[in-house]
Amino acid sequence: MNPANYLKIKNKIPSNVNILAVSKGFKSQEIKTIQNIGQNDFGESKFQEAFAKQLILKDLKQINWHFIGRIQSNKIRKIVQNFKYIHSVDSFQNLQKISNIAREEKKYPLILLQVKFIDDPNKGGFSPEFLKLKWREIQELQNISLTGLMTINPKGLSSKENIDLFKKCRTLADSLQLPDCSMGMSGDWEEAIEAGSTWLRLGSLIFGSRS
Ligand SMILES: *Cc1c(COP(=O)(O)O)cnc(C)c1O
Repeated sequence: MNPANYLKIKNKIPSNVNILAVSKGFKSQEIKTIQNIGQNDFGESKFQEAFAKQLILKDLKQINWHFIGRIQSNKIRKIVQNFKYIHSVDSFQNLQKISNIAREEKKYPLILLQVKFIDDPNKGGFSPEFLKLKWREIQELQNISLTGLMTINPKGLSSKENIDLFKKCRTLADSLQLPDCSMGMSGDWEEAIEAGSTWLRLGSLIFGSRS
């Protein structure tokens, strides 16, 4: 892991674009190193792994934890208790459950809804049509703050194809008056910025390759 890489990217991106440092597969010590140079948002995709690091780092109160992994229904309470943001809400059922549990727990998670703009059997996500259809109902759910959409492009697309898909996400978010688009990873973050990303989810670019 090389802090200089982090600073290089940080200095290159526009000020309205946030970096989510994706620390899955990396140790709490590595999170500390990056946190020390000004990064406070960290993304994790597995609850158990994340929770172990959260315990070790509990004195670093500035850290905002983001859940970005596939949501298992039986982990929702723990996710709601321990994460400020949830980027990967991929069904209405899970969203309802998050809302109900957040109310019980007196929490107010920031929510990004995962959307699929192209067929991809390996990924979950709302279809844009379903989201528009259900929008009123979604907005009425309590104890959640809907801040944006999240999308993951399939691998192997051209730069232009990536930009076009990301732009669909930006357009849909704008039409729903959602400020945030969580899009762009280590391989396609430049395209994501061009299309209007507000959260780049960067793992290997910051921390190096996962073992
Ligand atoms: C792992 C992961 C990332 C980061 O991937 P890199 O290619 O290492 O930047 C981003 N988003 C999600 C949902 C992930 O699971």
